[in-house]
Amino acid sequence: MQICYFSPGMKNFTENTQKRFADKKWRFTSGARNLARILENATSPLSVKSLVESLEAAERKMDTATVYRLLERFLEVRLVHRVANGFMPCTDPDNTSDSHHFLLCNSCGLAEEIFLDYQESISKQLQKEKDFRLSSVDLTFYGVCRHCRRK
Ligand SMILES: [Zn+2]
Ligand SMILES: [Zn+2]
Repeated sequence: MQICYFSPGMKNFTENTQKRFADKKWRFTSGARNLARILENATSPLSVKSLVESLEAAERKMDTATVYRLLERFLEVRLVHRVANGFMPCTDPDNTSDSHHFLLCNSCGLAEEIFLDYQESISKQLQKEKDFRLSSVDLTFYGVCRHCRRK
């Protein structure tokens, strides 16, 4: 099994979002931009409630339904991931494999995306032993991050 590590947060997230919206012929509204700017800096999963609050604090008020609708689009183009009860920006949206997973700190809430290349082997095994055809895996690893371990 191979693990690739990326540091949390992705540069150019907002530009990337704009590009992907254009590919889909979706209008990149100011709302989409404001939401992207908040997600861009997320180091812990952001719930819909906290996104609505952050937008309001930034004087970019958006109703909950619009936040949901935009998040659905972000998910569709794989720019964000559902992690625990929130959302995190993807650090490598060009990686189209299903190997995106997260380490989540129980103590400070820091979420870090990792890429685990095991799906093919597990998929073969499940097919053989359970006659089960795997389509996707949703994995979050809970533990204590390096910063908290040093405290
Ligand atoms: Zn990702
Ligand atoms: Zn921590």
